[in-house]
Amino acid sequence: MYTLTVPIKSPRQLPKLVFPERCLKCGKSKAGTRAIQFDVSKSDKKSVMLEFEPPLCKECIELENRLEWFSLLPFTISALLSAILGFLLLFFIILPLLPFWDFLGINDRQGRVVFFVLSCAGALASAVVGGTIIEFALKLLAAPYFGKLILSRPPTIIALSRDLHDIVGLRAQLTSDKKILTLTFEHEEMAKEFAALNGLAL
Ligand SMILES: [Zn+2]
Repeated sequence: MYTLTVPIKSPRQLPKLVFPERCLKCGKSKAGTRAIQFDVSKSDKKSVMLEFEPPLCKECIELENRLEWFSLLPFTISALLSAILGFLLLFFIILPLLPFWDFLGINDRQGRVVFFVLSCAGALASAVVGGTIIEFALKLLAAPYFGKLILSRPPTIIALSRDLHDIVGLRAQLTSDKKILTLTFEHEEMAKEFAALNGLAL
């Protein structure tokens, strides 16, 4: 593992990143790239994308496709199912059973609105928790097939909330102030080549 930092002076002056012409993971000849994008704009209204295209060989692209599929799809499906289940349980079973609605002076019609709002909030929490737990369990199950690589990736929910992208051989992360891009290379040799190509200090 080798980490390089790339300063981002301003959204108007984006660094142009040049990668070596071979696979970041295994060093074989480049068969394609896997684009990574970060929004480096500091305002919410307009987005400014910093884009770069790390090279991969044919096998590593296929591996990356499988890893991506396996990172996002189980999370999406299990988050959705957890949300539905959480909503139904809260709305129809748990909330109506709670004893303090009369005590709070909430009548039936108000109760339905309160239940609905609380159930939606609960559904959102279930989606995050359920999605993450099931994703983790599935990753553990898949580890023998994909190798430890899949376990080293952060849970989808963290990757989504932090500016972070993983591809095989590289982890790219933007600091929260959007001023520094860090690139962690799996291979020191690739990091050195990249640093030389981009005039970065090691
Ligand atoms: Zn490769």
